[in-house]
Amino acid sequence: MASPARYNPHMPEYEPVIGLEVHAQLRTRSKMFCSCPADYQAAPPNTRVCPVCLGLPGTLPVINREAIRSIIMTGLALHCEIAEETKFDRKNYTYPDLMKGYQISQYDLPICHDGYLDIDVDGGRKRIGIERVHMEEDVAKLFHRVDPATGEGYSLVDVNRSGVPLMEMVGRPDLRSAEEARTYLVAYRSILQYLGVSTGSMEEGSFRCDANVSLRPVGTSAFGTKVEVKNMNSFRAVFRAIEFEIDRQSKRLERGERIAMETRGWVEEKGITISLRSKEEANDYRYFPEPDLPPLHVAPAWIAELEELLPELPEPRKARFMAADGAEGYGLSGYDASLLTDSPALADYFEEAVAAVRPAAPAAPAAPATTPPSGSPTG
Ligand SMILES: [Zn+2]
Repeated sequence: MASPARYNPHMPEYEPVIGLEVHAQLRTRSKMFCSCPADYQAAPPNTRVCPVCLGLPGTLPVINREAIRSIIMTGLALHCEIAEETKFDRKNYTYPDLMKGYQISQYDLPICHDGYLDIDVDGGRKRIGIERVHMEEDVAKLFHRVDPATGEGYSLVDVNRSGVPLMEMVGRPDLRSAEEARTYLVAYRSILQYLGVSTGSMEEGSFRCDANVSLRPVGTSAFGTKVEVKNMNSFRAVFRAIEFEIDRQSKRLERGERIAMETRGWVEEKGITISLRSKEEANDYRYFPEPDLPPLHVAPAWIAELEELLPELPEPRKARFMAADGAEGYGLSGYDASLLTDSPALADYFEEAVAAVRPAAPAAPAAPATTPPSGSPTG
């Protein structure tokens, strides 16, 4: 196991402590609580809306079963406990992109909790705890513009995204470097893509990550003051933003300055984080159980059924790709196996390509007419 000191080249006596919160939009046909199509990305503005997702008074939400199915599959893949008794709660705040003045989310009873995700780092395996995975709804999208004639700013609202199912995964602060954070994020996205529950596209905004970063003296267990970093639009941005933050906080501590508890935003063009708001002004969300939805009972039989339906996930598939060349394995290096199994599409393509040229491969029946006779050279 690597010494923690090597994780912080900026100031080795301090150890970075990093936890990620990841929001993933689910690929359901309809939105979380209404029957509007959830394919908002390519739709003209404000064409995927109804009284429910517009937040009009008197409307009632209905839970999307497919979204619940997706989150349970995700929880199972992350070795989580799946709650049989769960509920939705109202998170109250006001912002122009929040149509109802509250977001339906989950507070104290998330559907999935206490799981883990194993990642390969520094030639070893590391287990990262998952605190919870819960279900909520996305908000509308704001477009900020400047009127060229007057120079005045104004904003446009596209409500299409409002109510799209959003799954939030909260990881435990077990990550110790920007590289570990990136590896973990890639591994999580890979699982979602294998399950087919999310596109996992950071560029499109269907996969978004916030990072909590703090430092503490090496050898201590108490957490330092944490800073939340937002607005990263790529895996590279997540890596760079965390690196920047470790460096910034190291330098402050070196100068004997305090770290302010705040939310910071990543500015891609400048490669820096800037303060967005102080945590002292943090909202009190006044959570309470959503009165328009009944508690949600998840039948153990359904959980067992979904467990049976889990596909081969990236981790076992990678192990199989590394197994001795033969009927199942391909004898690949860990590096090659990782590259090929991160994306299910690439892994499938690889297996199909091998099957097409390897007579003894299990997928050979897929190409019977072209399979060369045994004894022929293979690729
Ligand atoms: Zn709607």
